[in-house]
Amino acid sequence: MVKERVEKVLDYIATCSPGQDEFYQAAREVLESIEPLLKAESKYLDNNILERIVVPERTIIFRVNWVDDSGVVQTNLGYRVQFNSAIGPYKGGLRFHPTVNLGTVKFLGFEQIFKNSLTGLQIGGAKGGSNFDPKGKSDNEVMRFCQSFMSELYKYIGKNRDVPAGDIGVGHREIGYLFGQYKKLTGEFEGALTGKGINWGGSLARKQATGYGSVYFAENHLTVYNKDLKDKICVVSGSGNVATYTIEKLINLGAKPVACSDSKGTIYHKSGIDIASLKAVKEIGRESLKAYAKIHPDCEYIDVAHYPKDAHAIWHIPCDIAFPSATQNELTLVDAKALVKNGCILVNEGANMPTTPDAIDYLQANGVLFSPGKAANAGGVATSQLEMSQNASMTQWNFEEVDIKLRQIMKNIFKKAHDTAKEFEHDGNLIVGANIAGFRKVADSMIDEGSI
Ligand code: NDP
Repeated sequence: MVKERVEKVLDYIATCSPGQDEFYQAAREVLESIEPLLKAESKYLDNNILERIVVPERTIIFRVNWVDDSGVVQTNLGYRVQFNSAIGPYKGGLRFHPTVNLGTVKFLGFEQIFKNSLTGLQIGGAKGGSNFDPKGKSDNEVMRFCQSFMSELYKYIGKNRDVPAGDIGVGHREIGYLFGQYKKLTGEFEGALTGKGINWGGSLARKQATGYGSVYFAENHLTVYNKDLKDKICVVSGSGNVATYTIEKLINLGAKPVACSDSKGTIYHKSGIDIASLKAVKEIGRESLKAYAKIHPDCEYIDVAHYPKDAHAIWHIPCDIAFPSATQNELTLVDAKALVKNGCILVNEGANMPTTPDAIDYLQANGVLFSPGKAANAGGVATSQLEMSQNASMTQWNFEEVDIKLRQIMKNIFKKAHDTAKEFEHDGNLIVGANIAGFRKVADSMIDEGSI
């Protein structure tokens, strides 16, 4: 009965959202993993919660015209999917990347519902973005794009309504331009965006929060198995916001990150990544990792072209812990087999849905601990909510205060996912635990709020 209903809802998604493979993948993972809850309590099927929760409350698609440096008008697509507001105002990042389409934004928005619920904070789920590529654009082009994007988006957001943040391709610079335009159009200086600069309403430790939070989560996970991070060899995919601050925190806690990557290649620095050069190359210089390898002659650079399409160099480097922190479906079955062969004990997802379903099955079947992104990378959105709290009370907490709160939130999220898995007799399976805990709070709220 439960299985049939789940399949029926997934069939509906396949029919009504053709070509949205990533959304379908995310929905299948969540719906299948909550079957133990659906069997135990009939109210979710009785109230048609599955049928309702897979449909966004609102989807906004808009044209974004902007003028490039040569005076030519360019056109991109803008998206905001306001997925679920049962437990609070919509909250979720904006992604600017040429691969972004409606299916990408829906998968990210769907994941965000349960992630936000897991944080224990009052925030609903949303996501947005554009197929605009900030890479290779001048600051002025990025500014004009962001202003045009916000000229449409501002109608749908606000501090109690929908609060976007950054994601791939949207960092401090982009949030600044978006915030400036929001302020100009509304005349309000309010926390309608998070990830803001410290001088204009941002929170200390927000930049570090997703990466630091991911490492705190891994620490909690290892503790249950009487292990710790000390001297563990780690590989971290990506070299953007999440990867950089994952690497920084790993170094702080005595682990040894030896490799990271970007869209062009991977660096393997066996003696340990030098965080200062990494930041100089990627965060400040916006260069490729090739530049890092030039600074460190003992570092090996592996071009992306050297690996087949279904494999990624970073996962073939021997490690104790893997932190996929770049993008979706970047850790495949081929990669999972290499990790198992090399003795990896934990895969801790910093990115959203980075591990393919068959890779997850293989890792779990071979005894590798697995921290799902929904739980492990929730530190970013949790700290965004701390930014909202500071904005609402017109205060600014110091770095340590925010970091202490972040560490406690990650501990609580881990405990919730772990205890819920146990409650439903899937001890140690944090996918089941995180999805059920995240779903239950949202679904119960939807039932309380009636047929809206
Ligand atoms: P950034 O844009 O800062 O960095 C992304 C990194 O991943 C870059 O190094 C980029 O390479 C690489 N990358 C992106 N797309 C691809 C691709 N298709 N193939 C190979 N490499 C790729 O993004 P974030 O660090 O913010 O986000 C990374 C992940 O973490 C995403 O899944 C995001 O959704 C998730 N996340 C982010 C949060 C945040 O607070 N920022 C919060 C929670 C989750 P290059 O440098 O060459 O562009």
